Amino acid sequence: MSPLDELLQQWQNNPEFMSSVTRWEVVPAVEGSYRDIPEELDPRIREALVTRGIKKLYSHQAAAVEAVSRGNHTVIVTPTASGKTLCYNLPVVGAMIKNPASRALYLFPTKALAQDQVAELRDLTSGLDRKINCHTYDGDTEPGLRRGIRHSGHIVVTNPDMLHSAILPHHTKWVQLFQNLEYIVIDEMHQYRGVFGSHVANVIRRLKRICAFYGSSPRFILCSATIANPGELAETLIEEKPEIITENGAPRAEKHFILYNPPMVNPELGLRRSSLLEANRVASSLIKSDIQTIIFTRSRLGVEVLLTYLKQNMKIRPGEDSGIRGYRGGYLPKERRAIEDGLRRGKVKGVVSTNALELGIDIGALDACIITGYPGSIASTWQQAGRSGRRSGTSMAMLVANSEPLNQYIVSNPDYFFGRTPERALADPDNMIILTNHVRCASFELPFNHDDKFGRSDIGELLKFLEDENVLYSNDGRYHWMEDTYPAEEVSLRSATRENVVIIDTTNPSPVVIGEVDRFSAPMLVHEEAIYMHAGRQFQVEKLDFAEKKAYVRQVDVNYFTDANLSVDLKILDTFEELNGPVNLAWGDVRINALVSMFKKIRFNTHENLGSGPVDLPETEMHTTAFWLAFPPDSLGSMPLSAIQAGLISLANLVPQVASLQMMCDPRDLRAVSQVKAPFTELPTLYLYDNFPGGVGYSQEMYRIYRDIMQAVRKVITDCHCVEGCPSCIGPVLQEGETGKKPALQLLEVILK
Ligand SMILES: [Zn+2]
Repeated sequence: MSPLDELLQQWQNNPEFMSSVTRWEVVPAVEGSYRDIPEELDPRIREALVTRGIKKLYSHQAAAVEAVSRGNHTVIVTPTASGKTLCYNLPVVGAMIKNPASRALYLFPTKALAQDQVAELRDLTSGLDRKINCHTYDGDTEPGLRRGIRHSGHIVVTNPDMLHSAILPHHTKWVQLFQNLEYIVIDEMHQYRGVFGSHVANVIRRLKRICAFYGSSPRFILCSATIANPGELAETLIEEKPEIITENGAPRAEKHFILYNPPMVNPELGLRRSSLLEANRVASSLIKSDIQTIIFTRSRLGVEVLLTYLKQNMKIRPGEDSGIRGYRGGYLPKERRAIEDGLRRGKVKGVVSTNALELGIDIGALDACIITGYPGSIASTWQQAGRSGRRSGTSMAMLVANSEPLNQYIVSNPDYFFGRTPERALADPDNMIILTNHVRCASFELPFNHDDKFGRSDIGELLKFLEDENVLYSNDGRYHWMEDTYPAEEVSLRSATRENVVIIDTTNPSPVVIGEVDRFSAPMLVHEEAIYMHAGRQFQVEKLDFAEKKAYVRQVDVNYFTDANLSVDLKILDTFEELNGPVNLAWGDVRINALVSMFKKIRFNTHENLGSGPVDLPETEMHTTAFWLAFPPDSLGSMPLSAIQAGLISLANLVPQVASLQMMCDPRDLRAVSQVKAPFTELPTLYLYDNFPGGVGYSQEMYRIYRDIMQAVRKVITDCHCVEGCPSCIGPVLQEGETGKKPALQLLEVILK
């Protein structure tokens, strides 16, 4: 019996543990489904496979090779670790052997994934008699190598940001690539949703336009984790009809999937034991039994807090290596590579990570995975869980719920989780802000004819608008770029992550950079006096120079962490549609101003509040779309103002979470603000907005399906066992002493009348 089998049995025999388990699902082992290497594949690459010991392919790999050789755009949808890279590497390398002039472009969402991929390609092509040049092309590529890659790279592996800002604008230097481009591979396709996906779809429009200019029309091969609408998303991204392959032929060992709801501490208030503390307990027993474990947390702060607890539990002597690491954005690349390597070699026994490791970065397969808090979507949950599980031997994954409504909904409705297909991934390439930005970039690259389309989008009016703005000038029915600036520089595909604040440790006489945070998170995480945690060590921020984007920190040893409060102000700029009834409904453009004004100090373990302090930083501003509901005076009868306010605050807490389930997006993509007398409507108003500049279509969708959302909201509140409202439904009991549950239900009655 393996140590994991033993531990699983101990848990099953432990009534206290089992009382917190709401579902213990055993996903049975599945035999692989194999097929002969297809005849369509060049004999030389078939031989290369055989010499590497591969005599058969998984059925989905063979199906992919056949689909691509039929000349189809192809989408392959399979789970983590199912050998999907061969699905595109085989046809691509096969094409290169047949025709040495042939070229391919690979897109991965991150640099790290691209670098992994090149190592694998070099391994596959090493035995061939023909040299196939595979290179990454990203910010780390040495200037001396760039020319050679542009000229003679057969397979260029890069990310969408680099394609957007460095390759497409300089297409004249890439003539060999664009003239001969036969395949475009897009891996981790499901990452291209929301605002990032909307940008990437436009980058692909630009890419196809340049290919057409040089006379090539490449085939697309896309890979995705399981989502509900792979075909639809692929078609949104590439604007072509693809062939879709979904059956997975890879074998799978037995996996235990446990849904765990921490015990109730205070039923009236709906308070449960902290999910971090429970995860700490379970992870410690796994790691002590020498079981390699990954623990996912929802936030960077969660990573650091849990890392501290786990290291304490290991009771190691000073100077000894605990074998436990943290992993998240903000760690430097060198640190991250060392951790990935330690995981593959088994030297690292436990790793606490944000969703940074959810992506396909190669860390080998682990034995156990603990997910602290519902990651926000079913697709993400399965992806994180996929980090544990080898070809043979038992593995386990556990979701530890927190007190939030969505978490409680998932663990109390296991059938919903196990029975439901994952979410639809939405992207909106015609988001006006995003589209305009890319039409600017595209006109810099090549002039537009007055009747040109951009992908499937009609842009005649937009071109005229850009002419009026003196961005373009027209001549003989063609629009030419006329500004001095270089447009791609100003456009970030990931909106918030472009400008980073660097964190500098000044503990020692020679200061060192220990990490970075994006500009929008900086007021929350590195305001003055904040405790910034890095690799299990604590640093206090002594100075944040927001203009220079630098935070100066010093190492400290304190018994608390800090948590900042965000306050948000919203202003309506334009109304697109409205409908007046018992409640007034509308959606339109808004401006959001966000300000961090104070922070709290919270003691480790007990999580008690140790005091607070002010934060003095400029506010950040965002334009987006919102959906809002306003209550006319006669609709609320004699409801007192304080009750209306309590009801609105309660709905603002709960509605974004429930709406995210209905619209199949991440709850963090939506935000709510309530105003008891809104300056614009002059009425009690609840606003829900897309948490992205420009919006990506959620507000419009909420305007359409608001009744479904509000019915589900009412069900969550009436199903909850609390008396006056709790964190599992409408949020914590309000500090003013007003209770939210009853007024929230009253407002819902009005909305659903
Ligand atoms: Zn409740």
